[in-house]
Amino acid sequence: MSLVAKIFTCKRCGYCCQGETTVSLDADDQKRMILSLKSSEKNVREKYWRVTGNIVQMKTVAGHCIFYDNGCTVHEGRPWRCGQWPLHPSILSDENNFKTIADSCPGIKKEIGYQEFCRILSVLMEKDKVVC
Ligand code: SF4
Ligand code: SF4
Repeated sequence: MSLVAKIFTCKRCGYCCQGETTVSLDADDQKRMILSLKSSEKNVREKYWRVTGNIVQMKTVAGHCIFYDNGCTVHEGRPWRCGQWPLHPSILSDENNFKTIADSCPGIKKEIGYQEFCRILSVLMEKDKVVC
C-alpha cells in the first residue's frame, strides 16, 4: 500500500466537484488546462471557464464542475487546488480542519487517528508527494 493510500483513497463520490462555483485557476493552471484539452485559449475560455474580472473559475453544470462526469474528465489539466484536495496542509495545524475535511470527504481514513494521519501527511509533504 502506498503512503498516500494509508491516509486517503478517493471514493469518487464527486462531493468535492459539486457546487455553484469552483476553485479558481491561476496562470499555470490555465496554461496546463489549455494544453491538456488540446484546444485554443479562446475556445477553452468560452466553453469551460467563468471569468469574472481577474478571477477564472470553471463553469458549473447542474450543480457541479463542467468537467465532472463520474470523475474528473480533465485530470491531467485540473487546477493544482483540485490535485491538493483533500490533503490540505491546514490539517497539520488544526485538528478541527482535519475533522471538517474528513466530514466532507469519505476518502479520508480518519479511523487511523489525527496524530498518525498528520505523521504520514508530514512525510508526504516533505517528499512533495501530496498530489492526489
Ligand atoms: S470528496 Fe473525497 S472521496 Fe469524494 S471525490 Fe472528492 S476527493 Fe474523492
Ligand atoms: S477540475 Fe476535475 S477535480 Fe477539479 S472540480 Fe472539476 S471535475 Fe473536480
